[in-house]
Order: sequence, then C-alpha cells, then structure tokens
Amino acid sequence: MDNLTICNHCNSDACYTIENSPTIKTYSCFGCGFTTNSLMKEDEEFYNQQLEVLPELYKDVMFKDENGLTWMPTTINLPQQGMVFYNGTSKENAKWSAVKAAKILEEEKEKYPIKGKVGEFYEWRMDMTTIQSFEMKDFMEALSYIGVLPE
Ligand SMILES: [Zn+2]
Repeated sequence: MDNLTICNHCNSDACYTIENSPTIKTYSCFGCGFTTNSLMKEDEEFYNQQLEVLPELYKDVMFKDENGLTWMPTTINLPQQGMVFYNGTSKENAKWSAVKAAKILEEEKEKYPIKGKVGEFYEWRMDMTTIQSFEMKDFMEALSYIGVLPE
C-alpha cells in the first residue's frame, strides 16, 4: 500500500493518507483504527456537525494531535461486506465490534424494504448473529473478519 505515514495518534507507520481535494486530506490508521481529516478542527463546521451526531463513546476517546486535528474511531459500514465500529459501555471496556453482511433470501426480501422507494428491497443485511469483538490493537483482524483485508 502506498501513502503510508506515521500515525499521529498511535505512532505506528500504518496510517493511510488520501487526498480528497487539494485542501482536504483524510488519515486512516490501520494500526489503531482511528481516523481524522483536515476538517476535524475546532473552528470547522464539519467538526461541529460530527460532535452533534457522534455517540458519547466516540467523543470520550477523541484525541487532538499536535496539528490540531481531532482523531476518532473509524466506523466502517459496507452494505455487502459488513461493518466495524467502536463498541462498549465506556472507554475502559470498549472494543471493536465486527458484523458480517448476509445476502437476503428472495423469499425474505419483503421484510427489508428501501425507505421511500415503493417495491424496492435491500439485497444485503447486517447479520447480527455474526457479531464478534476484537481488542483495540486488533483493528486489522476486525477488518479481515468482514473481508475488507485478506486474512
Ligand atoms: Zn494509529
């Protein structure tokens, strides 16, 4: 993988940088599972919007780096693969949770209508029976579990 840099949150060298535009970069670390971008600064509207929608747990573990960027846990939600999110009742017991997606059977489709679209149904659902916890340091294993990274 190219564009790997040192992570300002955990200091590993597994931070993947994507340039979304000439002024905006996104940093996603595979070491600690945290992410930030150029708009995660205290005076940015984007940052303030995040504060309004993020779960308390995410806010509890936010980390401001030396450049003033605030890092938070990554949430991955891929309809055909699964999701990975930071989960727990407090930051002391938080872990990564991973859930696999499952194809919806033809005969069950009617149970999964797409909101606002008459006669259209989802093809995939999150299969909560597959939920599995991973320690904080095992973010990459959680990704492998839902098939985002090779095992
Ligand atoms: Zn990191």
